[in-house]
Amino acid sequence: MTGELSPQAAPSEQGFEGALRPATLSEFVGQSKVRRQLGLLLDAATMRQHTPDHILLAGPPGLGKTTLSMIVAAELDKPLHQTSGPAIQHAGDLAAVLSALTPGEVLFVDEIHRMARSAEEMLYLAMEDFKVDIMVGKGAGATSVPLELAPFTLVGATTRAGLLPNPLRDRFGFTAHLEFYSDDELADVVRRAAGLLDFSVSEQGVDEIARRSRGTPRIANRLLRRVRDYSLVHETPGDTASVHAALALYDVDEHGLDRLDREVLRAVVERFSGGPVGLSTLAVSVGEEAETIESVVEPFLVRAGLLTRTPRGRVATRLGWQHLGIVPAGPGAA
Ligand code: ATP
Repeated sequence: MTGELSPQAAPSEQGFEGALRPATLSEFVGQSKVRRQLGLLLDAATMRQHTPDHILLAGPPGLGKTTLSMIVAAELDKPLHQTSGPAIQHAGDLAAVLSALTPGEVLFVDEIHRMARSAEEMLYLAMEDFKVDIMVGKGAGATSVPLELAPFTLVGATTRAGLLPNPLRDRFGFTAHLEFYSDDELADVVRRAAGLLDFSVSEQGVDEIARRSRGTPRIANRLLRRVRDYSLVHETPGDTASVHAALALYDVDEHGLDRLDREVLRAVVERFSGGPVGLSTLAVSVGEEAETIESVVEPFLVRAGLLTRTPRGRVATRLGWQHLGIVPAGPGAA
């Protein structure tokens, strides 16, 4: 999915993301349970002068996993080394990263579910005993040489916790499940970012941006920047009128649905009489990858009460029909 409502970061946004990232747990908005749990874990580790348990952060994109990994390192006052599952294609890639860690360093592995299987197995021993076995030589003469590692804290992030093998999942002492943010929490995210960007937005404008941000801080920050652009170019204040005009320009409707969400909903309602329709049929009918529909569009439409998932496929709800201004027809309307 591309566009204003994609929860994934565009490469051009990374500078902005860095500038808007909270640096401490107390600046981190929302997720109060995770914050308290993580706070206790880090405080106890600091008091014991010991590395904390390894931490798994699970949840959809854009909810703050990378930010939390940076906060963990900052709160422990240790350096952070960042890598990602797709960058670790061989056990040797992981051995190189692990052997370069300094005592207490925090290793962040984004998309940890996409790491190569051979590396995963090496990671088990590294997480448990801070050791790896390096294979030296080839064929019959190959021998395994144990290598001691500096104690480190692994922070793994995944959008698909279910894809992690159990032995890996079990080696994390603490798993944080990040939830979508409430509108009030997102309003706090927007207020904070507006302050950092030195852009003044009316309270109603803040609420409007929050409501359309699909429970995701990354989207809230992005919509705020579009409103800021609009105000700059049109010389308007950051009021509700500017928010409406800016977001209309980018096809973000009043419920935070964008073009693809509406196309998916419209396909279920109009082409499949409200459903049920299977994921792959639906994906083909809107010309989009099934994974995008499943991981980005569908969770949002389900949360918004516009679509339901049934064992026989996706079904538009009565609210879904109403959203498109179409009168529900027959038993298809759940
Ligand atoms: P991905 O899975 O795509 O890597 P992520 O879950 O790691 O996403 P982050 O990169 O940490 O998400 O956050 C995206 C943006 O949202 C950052 O710019 C960050 O400033 C902002 N953000 C995330 N969570 C919060 C929060 N709780 N409070 C304030 N800002 C937040």
